[in-house]
Amino acid sequence: MSLITDLKQRALAAIDARRAELVNLSASLHAHPEIAFQEFHAAQLLCATLEQNGFAVTRGVGTLETAFRADCPGNRGGATIALLAEYDALPDIGHACGHNLIAGAAIGAGIGVRAVMEQLPGRVVVIGTPGEEGGGGKIILINNRVFDDVDAALIVHPSGRTMIGRGSLASTRLNLEFSGRAAHAAAAPDDGINALEAVILTFNNINALRLHLRADARVHGIITNGGSAANIIPDFASAQFSVRAATQKYADEILRRVIACANAAGIATGAQLKYTAKPGYAEMISNSVLARVFADNWRALGVPIDELRANERMGSTDTGNVSQVVPALHPYIAIGPEGIPGHTIEFRDAAISDAGHAGMLNAAKGMALTAIDLLGDPGLVQQAKQEFANKKPGRS
Ligand SMILES: [Zn+2]
Ligand SMILES: [Zn+2]
Repeated sequence: MSLITDLKQRALAAIDARRAELVNLSASLHAHPEIAFQEFHAAQLLCATLEQNGFAVTRGVGTLETAFRADCPGNRGGATIALLAEYDALPDIGHACGHNLIAGAAIGAGIGVRAVMEQLPGRVVVIGTPGEEGGGGKIILINNRVFDDVDAALIVHPSGRTMIGRGSLASTRLNLEFSGRAAHAAAAPDDGINALEAVILTFNNINALRLHLRADARVHGIITNGGSAANIIPDFASAQFSVRAATQKYADEILRRVIACANAAGIATGAQLKYTAKPGYAEMISNSVLARVFADNWRALGVPIDELRANERMGSTDTGNVSQVVPALHPYIAIGPEGIPGHTIEFRDAAISDAGHAGMLNAAKGMALTAIDLLGDPGLVQQAKQEFANKKPGRS
């Protein structure tokens, strides 16, 4: 038996031995959903588990209180492979994106690789990345140099299908605030400036734009404040939009046009517009070298992998930003029936089901075996980096 095969078997055994602990960890997160940057229970539990399993844990990295980094060095210098954990929930509906399973998978993978690290060069790190749902936690960690020494990054997200190499959309959040002038809506409407009408016109202007956007464009929004009473002309109204496209470049172009829609609404109504655009989520560059190694490992484990469709539907993730700075892979593991939509009660239920935890274990194993391949063969990391360097410049 080759050394790598032997190490892989030991890593798998270490993960299987911790099955109950990993399921309990995931269940505890699911039972205590915490929204972006409030993940104190989750961060504490994940850090304690990693420490008990021999990692050196630094809490609060990259200026984020609920971020962490857990390191385990090998027996000599080599590549640094990062396993990424997410653990934030959604407002109101809890773990409807299944990030409890992402956390369990990353911790399980870390434990598996840690079990054989004394026979491997390099370093395995588990990075706790809070605030994926709209907060862009990974962008903050990148900007604060938490990924500087990382050679490749792996994460697995739950889904209705098992997919390797699916991309993600670039995405920017836009907040609009219109200020008008209050007036009695029946006795003196002519004295008022209607901020709500400016919001409604913004939506209508964007709808007029839609036909002229490419098929990959997504513009969707909500009214966050529409006034306080029907008999008062609203002097303040606000809305939030998400602007997405296959590339950051095109998303930026759409963003400019959406802001023009809001400006036009301000001119038409006389309301004053203030807007803020939050740093965007970049599109995912899936590294095909990492994808090939990952797919081989999942196949060896008997995990069925679904074919990517020509027009695969996609969301956005701040792992896209990670993929812009290091070779990265963001596969999906099925935890429920095909077509089960994310951010729903059904998905939240799947994220605590037996199928959910079976998926989590397969995700952990896939990441652990891939990390062992990468640490054991510096040539693979070089290939991944070469492809990354070739794809970076001139991407559009
Ligand atoms: Zn989500
Ligand atoms: Zn998610």
